[in-house]
Amino acid sequence: MPDDTDTASAGAGADPEDAFALIGNETRAAILRALGETPHEGVSFSDLRSRVDAEMDSGQFNYHLSQLVGQFVDRDDDGYTLRSEGLALYRQIRAGTFNRRATVEPFEIGLDCYFCGSLVEGEYEDGTFELTCSGCGHVYAHTQLPPSAVEGAETDELLDRVDQYNRHRMLAYARGVCPICASALDTALVPAEDVWSDGSDRLDVFVDLDCGHCGADHFLSVGLAVLYEPAVVSFFRDHGTDVTSLPHWELEWAMTDEFLGVRSTDPWEVALEVERDGETLELVVDEDLAVEARRS
Ligand SMILES: [Zn+2]
Ligand SMILES: [Zn+2]
Repeated sequence: MPDDTDTASAGAGADPEDAFALIGNETRAAILRALGETPHEGVSFSDLRSRVDAEMDSGQFNYHLSQLVGQFVDRDDDGYTLRSEGLALYRQIRAGTFNRRATVEPFEIGLDCYFCGSLVEGEYEDGTFELTCSGCGHVYAHTQLPPSAVEGAETDELLDRVDQYNRHRMLAYARGVCPICASALDTALVPAEDVWSDGSDRLDVFVDLDCGHCGADHFLSVGLAVLYEPAVVSFFRDHGTDVTSLPHWELEWAMTDEFLGVRSTDPWEVALEVERDGETLELVVDEDLAVEARRS
């Protein structure tokens, strides 16, 4: 496993549990919030103290502030500002990731399950948005979102955003970059029987994307992994459709392996056929996700 600290000078990074303990304190959380409101502006000690708690003893305030400096806060001649780690945390706190709860009751999304024909429904609970078949339970999308993403949203607009958000993450995975930590991923094609998750037997093959750095391990269908291939985008465009703005769960060729054939497993080679108005796009994909496209 490569050690990423080689490529950047690692500062005095606390271990993750210490970092959480740091912001578990009310005053320190308030300092993050106060600095987050003016993210690119240095704030003097006295100004910051009056924004957080003007009544607090200056020595006590200084103690809490100094705990954050280096980890979440920078200090220079212009005053105190949030470091990028502090800003990322501030945005999560603002989005309500850690302290708010929201629920969206199941609603129909206008899709019949490809496997059993029942209605597919969207639902949000416990920080997770899911598209699930009401008949066979097949999961079409599973996305961690902060409550702010669903609060007050119309369902159509929410579906649009979830589609684009998932596409953006899947594109990073498909291009071999971890969307969580930007490390390089290990990529492999694996047979479905090696994948231990609910409903994985519905597909034949998965693209397994594994981050040795942060531990993210993600599985994509072959179709979802090639969603942004130039050959795919231009094929659909030539048939009058912008494939980058169709909800990905409406693309049967990407959500099932109905149109996929395994040509070889050593080395891996699979062929995916996408049809539109009588024309077929054949995509031959190898184990490095290199794609050869042919129209007929
Ligand atoms: Zn179903
Ligand atoms: Zn990662």
